[in-house]
Amino acid sequence: MSDAELVLRSTRVVTPEGTRAACVAVAGGTITAVLPHDADLPAGARLEDLGDDVLLPGLVDTHVHVNDPGRTEWEGFWTATRAAAAGGITTLVDMPLNSLPPTTTVDNLRVKQDVARDKAHIDVGFWGGALPDNVKDLRPLHDAGVFGFKAFLSPSGVDEFPHLTQDQLAVSLAEIAGFDGLLIVHAEDPHHLAAAPQHGGPKYTDFLASRPRDAEDTAIAALIAQAKRLNARVHVLHLSSSDALPLIAEARAEGVRITVETCPHYLTLTAEEVPDGASEFKCCPPIREAANQDLLWQALADGVIDCVVTDHSPSTADLKTDDFATAWGGISGLQLSLSAVWTEARRRGHGLEDVVRWMSGRTAALAGLGNKGAIEAGRDADFAVLAPEETFTVDPAALQHRNRVTAYAGRTLHGVVKSTWLRGERIVADGEFTAPKGRLLTRP
Ligand SMILES: [Zn+2]
Repeated sequence: MSDAELVLRSTRVVTPEGTRAACVAVAGGTITAVLPHDADLPAGARLEDLGDDVLLPGLVDTHVHVNDPGRTEWEGFWTATRAAAAGGITTLVDMPLNSLPPTTTVDNLRVKQDVARDKAHIDVGFWGGALPDNVKDLRPLHDAGVFGFKAFLSPSGVDEFPHLTQDQLAVSLAEIAGFDGLLIVHAEDPHHLAAAPQHGGPKYTDFLASRPRDAEDTAIAALIAQAKRLNARVHVLHLSSSDALPLIAEARAEGVRITVETCPHYLTLTAEEVPDGASEFKCCPPIREAANQDLLWQALADGVIDCVVTDHSPSTADLKTDDFATAWGGISGLQLSLSAVWTEARRRGHGLEDVVRWMSGRTAALAGLGNKGAIEAGRDADFAVLAPEETFTVDPAALQHRNRVTAYAGRTLHGVVKSTWLRGERIVADGEFTAPKGRLLTRP
């Protein structure tokens, strides 16, 4: 047996080759070997026998709004990373907006890194932001280690993060393509949004009509055209409209370098079940109909959608009013994402291997994190230990994020996270956390 300080043994270890009984050997925070279940332990190695609990690679969530500093009454690195750890997530990449300052210059990145440094219970990286007036900052941000750049094609919801017009998108994307960077895009077309009926008020059907599918479809088509012209790498954030799937599949078949994510709320909640006035369900683009959801699941199965990320975007409870037009748009799903997706995935006949591919392997690849996202020798010893058959009912009081508003309250979910491990150290078990051990990551 190879060198090991620690051996985790389980009858169900999810590896890239499938789920099997195995021992996972760890030394210096790294996986050194995946061995047979009955392998002899090396002298001095500590055994952690997990029985039949499943050992997964820690999840990598590339879409989280931590909002720290500046809107820390909404969320912060301490609370967000605890929620993530409790949910089996070991790496998150923070979005460049809703914090003050936004991550749009190297100086601002340094401010954010300084704030996060001692509060991170898991590993934390940063996306930069592409604004109309910061093209000169993109290259320096790339060199400083951001994982890519986020842009909006319609208003973002905060004044300090204006969206790009199509002409501005062309300029920013050309700059980013110049160093083969990645542009990640909130794709809703502002003209289609402006032309949609805007009734306001508490009715979910009115809100849904105000954010139509063709706003997404049009913006994605335009993004594909720009990516194709520039041979640029682009990523569609939080896809909700299934009508855009054929466009994306066709573009990829033509060689356009495009990837796509969707979110737990689009996969597990439906427009038909959102109560009027319940703005804890509000996000943009919106949660759509059950038939749309079926097609998103099909696209995950087919590989047209690459990955699943939370888009955890909380606010204080007072901003979640019963008027869908003015309530803050954002769903807080960090701690529940694995269980929520697993609950629906198993009902639809998918395995935990699929969930791991969507929420860990592919997201690590999106961020270029070659040392995350799989249980195999050479990768970081980041794990979630899951009891997939156990159920729990979501109690907002048990959540770790700052404002315990959740669209999942009262739901019964499958999959209890028993413990989470970062570089070979157990960082949370049964609601007990160690001191923060997360590191700040830069693009490898
Ligand atoms: Zn977001």
